Amino acid sequence: MAKQKVVIVGGGFGGVRAALELANDVRFDITLVSDKTYFEYHPTLYHTATGGLTCQSQVPLSTVFADKSVEVIVDKAAKLDRKARILTTASGKTLQYDTVILALGVVTNYFGIKGLQEYAYGIKSISDVTKFKEHIHQQLIDERKPDMHYIIVGGGPTGIELAGALPSYLHRIMKNHGIRERSVKVNLVEGAPRLLPRMPKSTSRAVQRRLKNLGVRLHLGKPVEGATADALVVGGKPIRSHTIVWTAGMANNPFFNENGFAFGPRGKVAVNVYLQADDNTYVIGDNANTPYSGMAQTAVYDGAFVAKNLKRILDGKDPKPYKPEKPVYVTPVGHGWAAALWGKIEIFGIFGWFLRSAADAKAFSEIESPMEATKHWFTEFGEQEDCKVCSHAMAS
Ligand SMILES: Cc1cc2nc3c(=O)[nH]c(=O)nc-3n(C[C@H](O)[C@H](O)[C@H](O)COP(=O)(O)OP(=O)(O)OC[C@H]3O[C@@H](n4cnc5c(N)ncnc54)[C@H](O)[C@@H]3O)c2cc1C
Repeated sequence: MAKQKVVIVGGGFGGVRAALELANDVRFDITLVSDKTYFEYHPTLYHTATGGLTCQSQVPLSTVFADKSVEVIVDKAAKLDRKARILTTASGKTLQYDTVILALGVVTNYFGIKGLQEYAYGIKSISDVTKFKEHIHQQLIDERKPDMHYIIVGGGPTGIELAGALPSYLHRIMKNHGIRERSVKVNLVEGAPRLLPRMPKSTSRAVQRRLKNLGVRLHLGKPVEGATADALVVGGKPIRSHTIVWTAGMANNPFFNENGFAFGPRGKVAVNVYLQADDNTYVIGDNANTPYSGMAQTAVYDGAFVAKNLKRILDGKDPKPYKPEKPVYVTPVGHGWAAALWGKIEIFGIFGWFLRSAADAKAFSEIESPMEATKHWFTEFGEQEDCKVCSHAMAS
């Protein structure tokens, strides 16, 4: 019998999980198209941005699929002809498929706010994080003084994680550079009246208290109006800074708009109860309009869900309808402290931190062999600096 040709687009949480789940079934011929050679583990990017190892946030796809019958094509998916079932890549390759699974993730959205694209840093990817760190260190090397004001925009988990880790990181690198200790001001700006606006108020309050204890200044209910080379404009007034980090907006991948997909609320692709946009096209993870879209746990769940249904169909069984699974939310705020929401249970402090570490271990095991996942988990405890001064100080 001819194998079923499955093309998966996106080497992130959803795409990798779907490919691994299908790879143990010889009835499938699997091709994964990724615009990167590696899988990016987003939850630790804030840590990589503040002195953690780069490899904790990055796993080569060649390692993920070692000994698996998955063909990886490093290229950008550009055009999808759903009628003819052909995917065309940016380099002009055409891939014929029986089924396509789309898991392309989201892109940064600046909502058209003037100056952000030019002047703000991000921490959505390894390359964002590398630019951000280079900027901080370069400033210390060039001017022998810190910026004094650092601004993070976005009171969601990413902004909070970075704001919580940045003060101690800045003090550490000032020390490495032999710069006299001075107070740095880390500002966290959020348009809504409280942090984590979609979480219970008690979680917001605990996180706000924790950030204040770490010396972070909160600017709540303050929508951003613009950015310049040396300031962020909020409420008509500038906050001076040469370091603005934007974590406040994401939009769906433009691929879907460019290829004529229909959308539900929040710009997510409309899917049916099998996560199909049409008979041969599945859309999962951050791209799909599902209740918990936007979480890695959801993307992994979706990838496994679609793969299992494809196997059921080949077995002559009916596919199962999608039952959304509520994720566990864990937000680390500075070393040794995290806020967790597990169903209705809230956990704060060191136990939240342990829960986060356990969640990372579980996530690594979803994409790597037990041996690789264990090695990966240990990388969370390491430190790394590309800056010559800091790496010398760390070695001595
Ligand atoms: C900084 C940060 C921290 C986060 N922390 C958490 C957390 O703690 N817990 C949690 O549950 N979630 C977290 N998330 C959210 C989580 O990362 C996403 O929900 C998850 O990555 C979604 O998985 P996905 O497979 O849909 O997309 P992704 O994992 O983003 O994968 C998409 C892949 O597709 C590739 N791609 C894009 N366009 C193309 C194209 N045209 N052709 C080929 N390849 C393409 C991308 O490069 C990427 O590799 C965080 C996100 C960020 C940015």
